[in-house]
Parts: sequence; structure tokens; C-alpha cells
Amino acid sequence: MGIRFGPSGNSESFYDKGYKHTYQAPEYLAEMGLDAFEYSFGRGVRMTEATAKAIRTSMEEYDIALSLHSPYYINLCVEDEERKQKNKRYFTETAKAALMMGADRAVFHAGAVTKMSRERAMELALPLLKEILDELDTEGLGAIRFCPETMGKLNQFGNLDEMIRICAEDDRLIPAVDFAHLHARENGALTSTDAFAQVLDALEDGLGAERAKNMHIHFSTIEFTKMGEKRHRTFAETEYGPRFEFLAPLLAGRGYTPRIICESNGTMAEDAASMKASYIASLNSLKQRVALNGS
Ligand SMILES: [Zn+2]
Repeated sequence: MGIRFGPSGNSESFYDKGYKHTYQAPEYLAEMGLDAFEYSFGRGVRMTEATAKAIRTSMEEYDIALSLHSPYYINLCVEDEERKQKNKRYFTETAKAALMMGADRAVFHAGAVTKMSRERAMELALPLLKEILDELDTEGLGAIRFCPETMGKLNQFGNLDEMIRICAEDDRLIPAVDFAHLHARENGALTSTDAFAQVLDALEDGLGAERAKNMHIHFSTIEFTKMGEKRHRTFAETEYGPRFEFLAPLLAGRGYTPRIICESNGTMAEDAASMKASYIASLNSLKQRVALNGS
């Protein structure tokens, strides 16, 4: 499908321009040179069929790749049957909405490590997720791909290694790397191209080059404390990291084609456009170097 860039939700400028509804987002995104959008059901899956269809029609008209964010209260690290069933329902509701809206994938947070060990959390999460994916298949919802996300707080389940282990269980899962979250939970570690390269290397080693290349990415700057993530920031707030300029040359050089969603606070479309510009600049300088070497 090729690399794509877009926002999570609507920028402030979307409303400033007089737009009101998400089915109008594709026209705005096309004006901005963007071709992806993420719609959040973080607080629950609620949408009428008419709205879903209007969104699907306009996303298709402008060729915008649509992803969803599943409810935040998904937690696979649970023991009792009732809570397991609730989790299944959140996945099923998200997948049904995705089908109606024309979304091909949905990001989810795998859970929280409360009093249990991280190993116990993994023991609970893997079989439950497998059960859920099988059930989605049975219900004819298997075409929607789910993407476990790397989480920003230390007590959340889903550091980079955990996310890779989850994805290794089933080929249908798409790794969702939130670089802001990694930066926050690693105490501001992503400050060089090398640091980003280590993340990509870990993905390639754990899941193979193809899955790494086609991952889902969340990117923004972020404010953090000792406990990890505090809040997402904007690219204009230059005191915060991580910076996409370190990642762009790696994506260009390694031929990655991820879908990159910007989660900046209020300027997500503008910052997505600036990431696209940075990526294109990296690609052009790479081409120039190749041309020089070839002559
Ligand atoms: Zn998320």
C-alpha cells in the first residue's frame, strides 16, 4: 500500500476551517496532502450505521486509509471469566464498526500489570488473545487486523519486547509502535538515529523484515515523568522529544512502508504533514547519494 501519513482525530484547524463532522475529514486531509486517518473508540464503540457509512464513502472517495483505536479499557491480563468475556465483546464491537466504516485495522492496548508479575500478565494475555482472534474469525470478522501498541506508562503491559512477543503469536497481528511511548517509558532514550535503529532491529529480529516494514506507527512528542507518559505534546513545543527527523532516514533507507499516525495535541494533521515532508526529504537525499555513487 505504500507509506502513509495522517492524524489521529481532527486537528483544531479542521474545526477552525468550518468543518464539523469526521465524514468531512477526507476533503481536509487531501488538502493537507495526507492519506491516513485514525478514529478513536477509546471511550467505547458508539456510532450509528448512517454515520459509519458516510465516513466510509468519503474515506474511499479520497483514498484515505482508515484505522480505529479500540476501547482503552481492553485488558487481556485478567483471570476471571466475566472480564474475559467483556474483552471479547470490546474486540467484536470494534471489528464490527471497522467493517461498517471501511477501516482495515484497529490498534489496542493489551492491558495493565497490576499486582501480578509481567510474566504472569503474558501468560494470561496470549491464550485470551488467541481465543478472541479465533472467535472473530468464526463471526466473519477476521479481515480486520488488530495492532497491539507499545505503551507509555511503566505499569502498563506492552513494552517493546512484550508487544513483539504478542505479535509473534499470530501472523494476523500488526505491530503498533508508539515511539512517544517508548521514549517516555525509557526515560527519554530516543535521541539519536541509532536509538531508533535499535527499535527497528528488535522488530526485524522478532517478527521478520516484512512485518517490521509494514508496521503501524504512532508518533508525537511527549511529556513524561519517572512513571512514564504524562501527556502528548506538539512538534512546535521543541523542548519535547522524540524527533521524527531521526526516524525518517531509517524508514527511507530500509524501504519501510508503515502507516504513520500523528497523535500531537491539537496539531496532529499539521505535524503529520511535517513528518511526510521530512520523509520525502530523506528519500530525495538518499536518491541523490545513490545517483552519485552510480555515476
Ligand atoms: Zn493507544
